[in-house]
Amino acid sequence: MFSQQTGIELEYEALLAPLDGFVRTVAAFFEAGGSGVNVTLPFKEAAFDWVTSCDEYAGAAGAVNTIVASDRAYRGYNTDGIGLVNDLIVNLGYSLAEKRILVLGAGGAVRGILGPLLGASPACIVIANRTRSRAQELIDRLEDPRLRACDAEHLDEASFDVVINGTSAGLVGAMPKVPARAIVGSLVYDMVYGANAKPFCGWALANGASAAVDGLGMLVEQAAEAFRLFHGVRPEGAAVLRRLRDEQA
Ligand code: NAP
Repeated sequence: MFSQQTGIELEYEALLAPLDGFVRTVAAFFEAGGSGVNVTLPFKEAAFDWVTSCDEYAGAAGAVNTIVASDRAYRGYNTDGIGLVNDLIVNLGYSLAEKRILVLGAGGAVRGILGPLLGASPACIVIANRTRSRAQELIDRLEDPRLRACDAEHLDEASFDVVINGTSAGLVGAMPKVPARAIVGSLVYDMVYGANAKPFCGWALANGASAAVDGLGMLVEQAAEAFRLFHGVRPEGAAVLRRLRDEQA
């Protein structure tokens, strides 16, 4: 759809890398003349370790989701956070300024969203992860006074303006454990999309969230930003998102 919108012809295909073969797979792709790669779980940290240089967001996150090749050098970027923030602010018309945000999870995707989320001027971001030490590692790495780590099941705050589910629980039909009081009146955003977002979004709406949206808009917006890095032109995400939503309906 981006190719049609911009008139840029391209080949864009899925590459399945074995769990122990990320570097082998990506190196072979570039060796064969490939010019760019998007990376998804569980390889974002491995991609960060492999690239020759990276942008500010990937550096802060220690996770790369976009690699652009140039003269046998491989530059890594992280467009997840820009995708999420664009979806919230531009597509959903929701300002994050001075908002209290709860982020569930501390994996590669959450690492990528924290920089752009902080850039949107929230009052605070609490990171709650099943393995608390991983949340603490993120806080220690970013050293921003607006960040705090805690156990998802033992949140002391009453509620949050925005609750972002950045865990991969939805991929296996599960949802992270979080007290219902945390989401009362909140905008709930699940980074997974489609049927995988139903358990958490459904639970949130049944327990008092003011709205619950899936991460399809984030997917489209992070891809639009990656397209800009690959081709130098930023396609319009909103039109693609509308079409995908219509096709889902
Ligand atoms: P990851 O690095 O594998 O991290 C997974 C995270 O989920 C960890 O924090 C893990 O906790 C937590 N988790 C997994 N199962 C759980 C459960 N049953 N209960 C509670 N927590 C659980 O994955 P990732 O790359 O961060 O991706 C996370 C999710 O974001 C994925 O579902 C991915 O599809 C989605 N995503 C969406 C977009 C988009 O564009 N919409 C972009 C990027 C990612 P532990 O640390 O305790 O293991």
